[in-house]
Amino acid sequence: MTSLAEPSSQTTSRSPVSSRFRVADSCCLECSADLAGALRELPGVADVQVHSTAGVVIVQHDGRARAEAVRRQAARVGVSLVGEEEDASAEQAPWWRQRRFLALALASLFVASGLVLDALTGYETAALVLYFLTIAVNGPLPLRSAWLALREHRLSISTLLVVAVAGAIALGRYEEAALLVVVFSLGGVLEEYVTGRARSSIRSLMALVPPVASRRHADGGLETVPVEDLLPGEIVVVRPGERLPTDGILISGRSGIDQSAISGESMPVEAAPGASVFGGTVNGLGALEIRVEKPYADTVLARIIRQVEEAQAAKGRGQRFADRFGAIYTPAMFMLAVMVASVPPLLGGDLRSWVYRSLVVLVVSCSCGLIMSVPVAVIAAVSRAARDGILIKGGLYLERLAAVRAVAFDKTGTLTFGQPRLIDVVSLDGMNEEELLRLAASIEAASEHPLAGAIVAGASERGLSTEQPESVRALPGIGVEGTLGGRSVFVGRPNGEPPQLARLEAEGKTAVVVREGDQVRGLLAVADELRPEAPAVATELHRLKIEHVLMLTGDNPRVAATIAAHVGIDDWRAGLLPEDKTAALEQLRRQHGPIAMVGDGVNDAPALATADVGIAMGAASSDVALETADVALMADDLNKLPQAIRLARHALANIHQNIALSLLVVAGLVPAALTGQLSLTEGLLLNEGSALLIIANGLRLLRRKEASLRERATRRPAVPSPASLD
Ligand code: ADP
Ligand code: MG
Repeated sequence: MTSLAEPSSQTTSRSPVSSRFRVADSCCLECSADLAGALRELPGVADVQVHSTAGVVIVQHDGRARAEAVRRQAARVGVSLVGEEEDASAEQAPWWRQRRFLALALASLFVASGLVLDALTGYETAALVLYFLTIAVNGPLPLRSAWLALREHRLSISTLLVVAVAGAIALGRYEEAALLVVVFSLGGVLEEYVTGRARSSIRSLMALVPPVASRRHADGGLETVPVEDLLPGEIVVVRPGERLPTDGILISGRSGIDQSAISGESMPVEAAPGASVFGGTVNGLGALEIRVEKPYADTVLARIIRQVEEAQAAKGRGQRFADRFGAIYTPAMFMLAVMVASVPPLLGGDLRSWVYRSLVVLVVSCSCGLIMSVPVAVIAAVSRAARDGILIKGGLYLERLAAVRAVAFDKTGTLTFGQPRLIDVVSLDGMNEEELLRLAASIEAASEHPLAGAIVAGASERGLSTEQPESVRALPGIGVEGTLGGRSVFVGRPNGEPPQLARLEAEGKTAVVVREGDQVRGLLAVADELRPEAPAVATELHRLKIEHVLMLTGDNPRVAATIAAHVGIDDWRAGLLPEDKTAALEQLRRQHGPIAMVGDGVNDAPALATADVGIAMGAASSDVALETADVALMADDLNKLPQAIRLARHALANIHQNIALSLLVVAGLVPAALTGQLSLTEGLLLNEGSALLIIANGLRLLRRKEASLRERATRRPAVPSPASLD
């Protein structure tokens, strides 16, 4: 599982450092291999990752690789890098001042005039000069790239081009040599333009955070500072209508905050002092003071962006297939070209025409479309999902999500709000009810479990004060125990069947026992409100042909049955300890196939990790959930789940289309090249053209619209809370 938590510069015992850069000018996938190779040569560099589609470069080194050196080395292979914080687009010169564009424009002019001259006047020498000028202007870049690849014993697209151009010249096909060079650069430029769209969609997430914040001085004055300089504990001021600069706790002011940047939900969320708020969200009408909680690089939005950019790294089957095929295809075609140029002439064929055919084979032997087919679709889908508040941590999980056959929900905090309220206090041995509750609340005060919160809140609502226990111990999935005034007290899961328990549970309430020593003193019944969208989501999952919608809970079977019946759950397992959930999942997976586990990350992290896809809900407010999940739903809204599954399936279909399309192109071009039906220029045009088509198809996912209206219409009216179900 990939970890989200890494800050952009990380230090451990052996102090390896990981520095992130952005590619300032667009970097094609071809140069990304050159770039990785070049950067690995720097002293002290342990590893280099180039996420070409997102334009992000991560250099792992032992501290010796200075940013300046990295940039200089990158510049040597023609890539300009900027630091992570700098805005890459700001560095980019307008196209008419970039060398590549200028070279392309000039070369096109030369080749066009050459062709015209040739056709109209027959000034062959003049045309020849123009063709060679074209090659001279536009050839150096692929030549250098081919040379770099050669040094690393790699065949690259440029190598193929260089050989083809040299061959065409040797055959005296000067105009074709010139055309090849131009079409090749044109293809590269267009490809970069299109992939740039995927990149700018990620960048648009970044643009949601204002670059500066108003920080409050100790003396009360305000100063404007870059968001990266904000430190935990500092106070920032946000005026009405402004975007929040960073994550923090609201300390004064009230406002409806539009959290769509994070959660994809544009309904404002009411925030009062004490609430967690997030950078990139939009303040409503209140003036707010926020205490900064974490450095900028660790904010939810910054982590989302990093994750989206690195989505290419977690490779799914589609990507691995494309990689493997691409790795075999190019050398195989190279061999084929060598054979085409040598075998038939030895058998008496015409040398010139077979050499020409072998050059055409070379020109089509890079399936650029295949190489781009998967990463472009993955980045587009993941970045689209992020805008809806769905974080998918890589192509692998996108694929798995699409393939899921069963979905298991955790109950507390997932199917229910996880904000239970204390409903009944039942004394079983004559103990005063207030005393019973006070005892329980004193022990629970230290626990973070939602049930504990309900009990403590219930006590304070009834005006009871709690005492400080001598000791407390949490028993995950069971309860808490502690000593208070020398009495040993347990609050938690009942064992045995105390009176009244059956009644409370049949009402859908979760009852916990309060024990003193071995003596059961009473029961506290708590009810958690079912999320109103849960039944509609179960229906929607069934409609998506997910046949098994399941529930895993530590709660009692009777409560589980009541809730399952209301939600429309096919099957459930109750009374599970956190570790039992893992075992249950493994068994369910054997039974039903690929399974997703949906939890809130509170005590279900092991289960999330066991499932084929671990999905965390409400991840914006829980660091653990955001970290352990493969898919994180930022909003506290179950409807995001079917939405994520639909998007994943759509993306997978797109990936399959792209792979199929590129295989089809290969299957068409190779025989055509072999039988001499393609000219060099046609071969290259078809090859580049199909690659562009494939990239454009992948990018359609960026514009994907969710059929939210339909969804809203089929949503059932809210179901009453289990507490009121009889
Ligand atoms: P779920 O699987 O529904 O999320 P948990 O695994 O968190 O539930 O808890 C399972 C059961 O353990 C609860 O229903 C309750 O009976 C008991 N329990 C766990 N922690 C506590 C606690 N702090 N106070 C009281 N009971 C608890
Ligand atoms: Mg739970």
